Amino acid sequence: MNYDRILIRYGELTTKGRNRNKFVDKLRKSIKTALSSYPKIKMEVSRDRMYVLLNGENGKEIIEQLKKIFGIQSFSPAIKVERDLLEMKKAALQLVTGLYREGQTFKITAKRSDKTFELDTDEINQAFGGYLLKNIPGIKVDVKNPDINLRIEVRQEAVYLSCETILGAGGLPVGSGGKAMLMLSGGIDSPVAGYMAMKRGLEIEAVHFFSPPFTSERSKEKVIDLTKKLSEIYGSMSLHIIPFTDIQKAVRHQVPENYSMTTTRRLMLRITDEIRRKQNGLAIITGESLGQVASQTLESMFAINEVTNTPILRPLITMDKTDIIKIAKEIDTHDISIRPFEDCCTIFVPASPKTKPRREKVQYYESFFDFEALIQEAIQRVETIHVKPETTQQNEFNELF
Ligand code: ATP
Ligand code: MG
Repeated sequence: MNYDRILIRYGELTTKGRNRNKFVDKLRKSIKTALSSYPKIKMEVSRDRMYVLLNGENGKEIIEQLKKIFGIQSFSPAIKVERDLLEMKKAALQLVTGLYREGQTFKITAKRSDKTFELDTDEINQAFGGYLLKNIPGIKVDVKNPDINLRIEVRQEAVYLSCETILGAGGLPVGSGGKAMLMLSGGIDSPVAGYMAMKRGLEIEAVHFFSPPFTSERSKEKVIDLTKKLSEIYGSMSLHIIPFTDIQKAVRHQVPENYSMTTTRRLMLRITDEIRRKQNGLAIITGESLGQVASQTLESMFAINEVTNTPILRPLITMDKTDIIKIAKEIDTHDISIRPFEDCCTIFVPASPKTKPRREKVQYYESFFDFEALIQEAIQRVETIHVKPETTQQNEFNELF
């Protein structure tokens, strides 16, 4: 017997009280987006769970897609049957026979959310256990560590049978927690930071600082490709590309070399904050990790952070590089990040940047020049791209023919 649906459990969502509808709605949207290339699937949504009805679509492929979706605690391929003991037994036998290999053990786990059903959970366990033992030669019961655990769930509308519980990605549905700006370089760290923030439910728009001709079109392409990868999670993502050349040149002329990086970062943050305000975001996300480079010492962060009181989220702050790289590989951004194209910051990086910059000093150096005018000009000239995942773009393209 083939599974006809996948039962999806929300987990953490159930604790969210009043916001529940919003959460469930965002999760539904995430699933729809991820499964958009399976047109026949339908969704059934209720208070505490969802079903993806397969309607003949490839269950195995869909399971792989579901594993990546934030907000799903676990899921199970399942069969829906009528609340009729004979029907239930027939379906259970077919299902377990299909999975059974010689020498394997099983157990029944019954759950009854509708207490009006004619048998209670113990009685269901016994009735179905006995029935399977009689009809599948060689099968044995093992209640502690069974090879096959047949779950029989009796609900008011129907009975659901399943044998497998697959762990979901956890987290919260993307977009359920508000919007933030991700400062996205072409490096390994910031895409991982974006991924982790999305995992906790944030919707993200990316901001990238671009300094042509010091940084090439290829390095811009790299950032677009990284955005595409991240956009797979939510179905689309905006990328704001800020022309940064004039500002970097001005910093080089105006600020002593050992403070130029501190000022550059402060200006990036001011501009990102301005974009955040326009886009109604509530936070800024960076890929910073404590102590990794000169700009990421605590003293540096203290000096740089002075320019805004917007929350700055640093999901990687306590992580080691090796652990960050591991995630980058898992989410498929690593190979894009290591393409050898320069970033605007690496080009202008001073020989010996201050690792312990001071606020008073950087304020003093910045006071001789009107950076605000340049900031406004850069914001006027921002290029915003609405990026979609590779596959959707392909589909749209195909539809043209
Ligand atoms: P990454 O691997 O993300 O590039 P990094 O280890 O190279 O990080 P830095 O160059 O110090 O570290 O950058 C720290 C953070 O500042 C980055 O993670 C990113 O969030 C932001 N950032 C750096 N360069 C840019 C850029 N050109 N555009 C947008 N954000 C940037
Ligand atoms: Mg970098």
